Amino acid sequence: MVGLATLDLWESLRQNGCPVCRVQEKAERRYAVNLLWENVNDPGVRVRLLASQGFCGAHVRLLLSLADRELGSRLGLAIIYEHLTRDLIRRLGELVRPARVFGPARPPAQRQLRRLLPTEECPVCVVGREAAERNLWFLVENLPSADWQAAWKASDGLCRSHLLRALAVAAGRPEAFDFLWQDAIGRLESLRHNLAEFIRKQAWENRDEPVSAAEARGVEAATAFFAGWKSGI
Ligand SMILES: [Zn+2]
Ligand SMILES: [Zn+2]
Repeated sequence: MVGLATLDLWESLRQNGCPVCRVQEKAERRYAVNLLWENVNDPGVRVRLLASQGFCGAHVRLLLSLADRELGSRLGLAIIYEHLTRDLIRRLGELVRPARVFGPARPPAQRQLRRLLPTEECPVCVVGREAAERNLWFLVENLPSADWQAAWKASDGLCRSHLLRALAVAAGRPEAFDFLWQDAIGRLESLRHNLAEFIRKQAWENRDEPVSAAEARGVEAATAFFAGWKSGI
C-alpha cells in the first residue's frame, strides 16, 4: 500500500540512483523553480537570502540552468544578486567609521568582521535535507512490508550519507534496521568484489579475462555511493 506522501519515494525506487537523493533533488528543483517563478520579490524569501548571502555553489548551478533552460530568463537571479551585492557594499562600508579622511582605513575588530558571515544555510540545501529526512522516515516505516522489500531489492539502494542516516532513523525499529543493515552489507560486498575484479583484470597477465559490465561500472557505482547521486542537471 502506497500513500500519497510516499508516492515520490516509491516511484524513485524504480529509477536509477539513490532513491532518497532523487526525491531530495526533486524537492530542491521544485523549490528553486517556485522561487524563480513566483518568489523573487517575496520579502520573506529576500530576508532569508540576505541571511545566507545567496545559494551554495551546487544550487547556484541548478538555478542558472533552470533560469536558462526552463524559465527563459536570468532576470530573477539578477534582481536577487543585485540586492545581495548592494547589501554587502553597505555592510563593508559600515566597517570603517567614521569615514577616513587621510591615510589608510583602520582595520575593524575581528568580531565586526565575523558579523559579515552568513547566519543561515543555503535555503535550497535546507529544503532538500528536510525532504530527505521525511522520506527516510517513510522508508523505515514501510520497509517491514514485503512489497517494499521486493521493490527495495530491485533498486540501487541508498548512498552513503542517506544509508548512515537511515540506520540511525531505523535504530528504534529492529525489523527495518535488520533489513537495511543486511541489505547494505550485501551491496557493499558486491561493490567491493566488482572493484577488486576490475583492478585484478588491469594486470598484464590477466589481460585476456573480459571485464564484466558491473565491473566496468564499479568506479561509477562506488563514487555515486560515497558522494551521493546526482541526475546531471
Ligand atoms: Zn542519497
Ligand atoms: Zn544549497
